[in-house]
Amino acid sequence: MSESNTKEVVTRFPPSPTGNYHVGAARSTLFNWLFAKQHGGRMVLRFEDTDVERSKREYADNIKEGIEWLGIDYDGPYFQSERTDIYRSYLEKLIKSGAAYLSDESATDGGRDEVIRFKNPNITIEFVDEIRGTVSVDTADLGDFVIAKSLDEPLYHLAVVVDDHEMGITHVLRGEEHIANTPRQILLIEALGIKRPVYAHIPLILGDDGKKLSKRHGATSLSEFRDLGVLPEGMVNYLALLGWHPQDEQEIFTPEELLTAFSLERVQKGPATFSLEKLRWVNRQHILDMDEEAFYDHVRGVIPADIKKLPQFDLKRLRQALPILKERTEVLSDITQMAAAGELEFLFEAPNYSASDIVWKEDEPQDTANYLREVLTHWEALLADDFTPKTLRDAVWDYASEVGRGSVLWPTRFAISGLKQSPGPFEIAAAVGKEEALSRLKVAVEKLSNET
Ligand code: GLU
Repeated sequence: MSESNTKEVVTRFPPSPTGNYHVGAARSTLFNWLFAKQHGGRMVLRFEDTDVERSKREYADNIKEGIEWLGIDYDGPYFQSERTDIYRSYLEKLIKSGAAYLSDESATDGGRDEVIRFKNPNITIEFVDEIRGTVSVDTADLGDFVIAKSLDEPLYHLAVVVDDHEMGITHVLRGEEHIANTPRQILLIEALGIKRPVYAHIPLILGDDGKKLSKRHGATSLSEFRDLGVLPEGMVNYLALLGWHPQDEQEIFTPEELLTAFSLERVQKGPATFSLEKLRWVNRQHILDMDEEAFYDHVRGVIPADIKKLPQFDLKRLRQALPILKERTEVLSDITQMAAAGELEFLFEAPNYSASDIVWKEDEPQDTANYLREVLTHWEALLADDFTPKTLRDAVWDYASEVGRGSVLWPTRFAISGLKQSPGPFEIAAAVGKEEALSRLKVAVEKLSNET
């Protein structure tokens, strides 16, 4: 190996494919990837599927898809189940050197007559964890632990140590729950006379109740967040904040910015808390940063079929409605929710309501009709191409302020939306466009005129 090769940073993400890709695993992947990439290195994806009963191909696929969705690249994937010969040769070596032995278990009720145990030298193992500092463990309590069920059935500690060595892993960044595994793995490393990687154990992720994050807390798997309409860049940003602290106030990062900003030194020891609310907020900032074209593509992807069937639905109108949608979207499924709650129909269909609904508080229907006529006159003077929230507001603001904003703007908004609650009158008028906004105001004036 050349000098530069020995220095290349290689990290690994080694999931056991016994469940779908979840937040904790994704956070580990991200930290390993950021760390490797910012050192000009690479990350290896290795499926630790030696537990044949619990490992499933569909979980491996789900994990792989999730990693790719996040935009994370990797070497591999490797599958431990395809590497039995390699582990066998290491087991033979350990047995030959006397560091491991075939243990007769027939007298116990463990199920096997024979397993392979590591001969524990009962020493104190000390290692420097990049996040937690020096850790020192007396391994005598660990006994002669089992490293394989047979030469062809290695267990986790053996397989991990062999693979990390074979794959040239220089840094092991993994969840805090693995800190207890490290001394056993170092014992094996020393018995094999191979190089120790650098260790960094990253903090646990808790739910908002202070308990370890689990399905009880709601969505925890990446495919659920994707279905909710979290953007990959929003997810990456939020995951980075789970245990890592930016240097200054900035909380919103693109993946590229994270590659520069991330550092292991700023990863905390204490647990991180997962908050869906914060994830939604972070995602919203990425939506707000998105250019119109990209947001438009996303909207087209989620807009429900029954909205597309409305009489005035067309792509021009949809484009005009983007600011309104963007304003109210944290995750893309919010758009589906708004549609389901009947909050979007007015954008593509004139509302239906009775005249009495439109009048503001104690105003008389005739007064309201007059106010709307005035709004109509002001707005008719605007060019269709210049029918924007700003021009619409400027055109009637002084008048509305004089007469009473509620008296003028409430019926204006209602005439266009038919909803007791909706975005403001100028935003929705701009969204439906000049022709339609004026036509809806005229309908309202007519309804009010017929009142008396
Ligand atoms: N397969 C282990 C897991 O899923 C990986 C442990 C490690 O990072 O060494 O937790």
